[in-house]
Amino acid sequence: MDNSNDLRRDIAKQTMQNDVRLNAAYIDGEWITIEASDSDTVDDHALYDPNLGEVIATTRLSTKFHVDRAVDAAAKAYPAWSQTSVSTRAHYLNAIADEMEQQFDKLVGLSVFNNGKPIEEAKIDVSDAIACYRYYANLITEQETWSEVSSESGIRLLKTYAPVGLCALIVPWNFPMVTTAWKLAPALAAGCTVLLKPSEVTLLPELMLGNILSAIQMPKGVVNILPGGAEVGAAMTSHPWIDKVSFTGSNLVGEKVMIQAAKGIKDISLELGGKSAIVVCADADIEYACDLIIGGIFTNAGQICSATSRLLVHQEIAQSLFKRLKAKTEDLYIGDGFDTATQMGPLVSKQQLAEVKKYMDIATAENLDCLTGGEILKRQGYFATPTIYTDVPVSSQLWMEEIFGPVLVSATFSDNVEAIRLANDSKYALAATIVSADETAVLEMALQIEAGHIWINEQQIVLPEAGWGGFKQSGIGRELGRDGLSAYQKSKHVLLPS
Ligand code: NAD
Repeated sequence: MDNSNDLRRDIAKQTMQNDVRLNAAYIDGEWITIEASDSDTVDDHALYDPNLGEVIATTRLSTKFHVDRAVDAAAKAYPAWSQTSVSTRAHYLNAIADEMEQQFDKLVGLSVFNNGKPIEEAKIDVSDAIACYRYYANLITEQETWSEVSSESGIRLLKTYAPVGLCALIVPWNFPMVTTAWKLAPALAAGCTVLLKPSEVTLLPELMLGNILSAIQMPKGVVNILPGGAEVGAAMTSHPWIDKVSFTGSNLVGEKVMIQAAKGIKDISLELGGKSAIVVCADADIEYACDLIIGGIFTNAGQICSATSRLLVHQEIAQSLFKRLKAKTEDLYIGDGFDTATQMGPLVSKQQLAEVKKYMDIATAENLDCLTGGEILKRQGYFATPTIYTDVPVSSQLWMEEIFGPVLVSATFSDNVEAIRLANDSKYALAATIVSADETAVLEMALQIEAGHIWINEQQIVLPEAGWGGFKQSGIGRELGRDGLSAYQKSKHVLLPS
């Protein structure tokens, strides 16, 4: 590690010490120190730097007691906030974006420090989150209070939108600030008040949001932030006053959340797992296809819901493609997220590394052909090698299950019909990439591939105006775009004489 890495880490550490409120929940516009209440026990919770595998801080997580206080605050704030003008809501959304821009370097540093992702990827995350707040600030101002649906035979039908109410927002650790923005921005734009629970794994960047809300003087109680784990998530999603649950995370927890939210018939959005395909056709440019394959699986060390973790390559070009893919993969610089040269950083945690190791062991037991990688690195931090298995049968656990790490499985196909069949051979259907020189044929293929988002000859860019979400077990509902706003609104129709 060179000195500049040390320096960047030191700056992030200083930010943590000076700016992040540990041992506290942000409720009703204030930081409330977390202490054991009569009914709850509070244990210390460790936060890690995955680059070094070291504890960087210990903090306390909130409990059901704080959930109840936060719900009270959100309920108290709701009548006024839900009636604010759209221009007022847009003002606050833009103010969040402005303040995030002011704090850009700190947010990036904390993200690398606590999540491990390479610094350039962390910069993209913070920029994407800012763009999301601005997008919903604009979108909400475009929405008319009343729109005329029809006017005939002496009657008029009008439509308006009302906020859905009090929302429980629960996010994972893989894109701190981004998954939060995807929920928080449209919820605030719609006029909802919220309880936000960031992942207990990556609290450092997420807790900065409390400071940002205080700095812009967001009305008290509109946003309440609860650092917590499963217990707090369950208390939020089953609380009788919560109207809407929006959850991003694993299918295992998603199923629990759905059951918890069933109590009181809550509205629900679920953004869950994926096992997305990247299809490389015979006419694809091999060099470019390799770049898209590598970007699709090794960005964020494969910890992306839309990671294209199943490669389907036309048999005619398979041999030459695998040769280049192996060489390019082995050229990737694996290192500390604070090192600007790093192209792939560590896994987020010891548990996530163990999960990747589990699948590498299954691959060995299944006798899969390992083109490259297949190892956990013997060094400080939670590092695995970028790994590719070829000729993987569809019955393999590695083919079927989401690994959430830098592990690519691949198979070949002989024509587009087989490619589509293989791409759709999954319980998930979140995203896909197609690489081909024939745009007409690929658009036809895109119609038949089951996925909520398909990239054709493009990296995984997600624009705020594009709805995000999957089919099948990848979830329910859409985030981002107009659909993302609708997720926090209920339409209301009014009929009157014309
Ligand atoms: P996870 O399901 O373990 O945790 C997600 C969140 O749920 C965390 O904040 C966690 O504290 C909370 N939680 C845990 N138990 C809970 C309970 N009983 N009730 C309520 N909340 C509870 O997921 P993770 O490991 O943090 O993230 C990885 C998963 O997220 C992957 O499966 C990935 O595909 C998925 N993901 C999906 C998308 C998408 O847009 N579809 C985006 C990012 C991540």
